[in-house]
Amino acid sequence: MRRKISIIGSTGSIGTQALEVIEKLQDKFEIIALAGGNNTELLKQQAEKFKPKYVYAAKPINVDGVKTLESLDEIAENKENDIILVSCSGKIGLRPTLKAIENGIDIALANKETLVMAGDIVMKKAKENGVNIIPVDSEHCAIHQCIKDISQVSKLIITASGGPFLHKSVADMKNATVEQTLKHPRWNMGKKITVDSATLMNKGLEIIEAHHLFGFDYDDIEVVVHPQSIVHSAIEYVDGSVIAQIGLPSMHIPIQYAITYPERYEGIKSKSFSFSEIARLDFEEPDFEKFPTVKLAYKAGKMGGTATTCINAANEEAVFAFLDGKIKLYQIYEITKKMLDEHVLIKNPTIDEIFEVDRQVREKVTGMFEKTYC
Ligand code: MG
Repeated sequence: MRRKISIIGSTGSIGTQALEVIEKLQDKFEIIALAGGNNTELLKQQAEKFKPKYVYAAKPINVDGVKTLESLDEIAENKENDIILVSCSGKIGLRPTLKAIENGIDIALANKETLVMAGDIVMKKAKENGVNIIPVDSEHCAIHQCIKDISQVSKLIITASGGPFLHKSVADMKNATVEQTLKHPRWNMGKKITVDSATLMNKGLEIIEAHHLFGFDYDDIEVVVHPQSIVHSAIEYVDGSVIAQIGLPSMHIPIQYAITYPERYEGIKSKSFSFSEIARLDFEEPDFEKFPTVKLAYKAGKMGGTATTCINAANEEAVFAFLDGKIKLYQIYEITKKMLDEHVLIKNPTIDEIFEVDRQVREKVTGMFEKTYC
């Protein structure tokens, strides 16, 4: 039986790689729906090639034999789906993820913002509905693969490549151009996540993501810098054994793991892994002075409630402003910190309160640029 899958965010970095995986495993999958954002030309090509039943696009598109949907909800509510890959970037992932969970559809989750914004609600709903949330994020996918009995795990160890400014000075970072920031040494990803990797906010968001996915206290989630990106993350058991998941840095592997779980099939790999070719693996403690975003994320995570919604919204809007040339790279942190400092915490928010906090924070952040820079 072929697994029925939909992809929300099929034109992005994860989405296109997921389609490469599916193409390789054609006899294992049937595509129900593809949804994309502004890149309607690519979405049209994908729909023509993969012939899903449905397509959803931000702007109307016409593909022979493929029905166009009015909203993402129509994908999330379609019980034909066995699994939905949520691979869009930013806050748009949350609503369809919740809808799919309510409909008992398993989720392959690449959109970490969903858990950062509303992790308590999402995980509670998933439990109530017996829905599996399989992480696509390489670190969480690694942890997922390492865990046999979660009650015996004492610590999660999340690796960070360190991004393009790892061994650069604080001054270099302060003056970084958009181009320098988007040059990630190990991973080829979308723009928003690449900026987050440069500031290490991506790691901050991943700590929060790990807290929700695996139910660990923040004090039991550690970050270590590992520039080669070979060890994708590790866990420590109560007896002191450490299990790590290791492999060449390719997103095809975690994507395939998430959408085929619990099965494994031969995948897209250019070559077999060789320890001797890797030769060395380095590890170091993160420089929290240079990358204060990590501590900020721990702080928000420990505050709980809407604090992580707040930093997610502030960071995302600040990243967009940086990409638009309105602010400097380090101001992303300053803005996010200011928003958290001013945030009036709601400890147990409803989903509407989460969306309202998200909206207010974004409005405040974008308002700052209008006054100061336009
Ligand atoms: Mg990651």
